[in-house]
Amino acid sequence: MVKCKCGALNPDDAKYCQKCGASLNKQIKSTENKETNPALTTILVLVVLVILSYVAFTVFQGIL
Ligand SMILES: [Zn+2]
Repeated sequence: MVKCKCGALNPDDAKYCQKCGASLNKQIKSTENKETNPALTTILVLVVLVILSYVAFTVFQGIL
């Protein structure tokens, strides 16, 4: 059962509240976004790439 913000209980597969008509899927998506942050993951990947390219450049200079 999925409980709407209005307090009405709806089936798990219900997309909208049977009482007030509010979208039930939006509440689920908002909680999922809090668990995984795509922007933070992108920043972390970019930082790792910059560090790796700097290390590779330094090693390349050392070889020459
Ligand atoms: Zn409702």
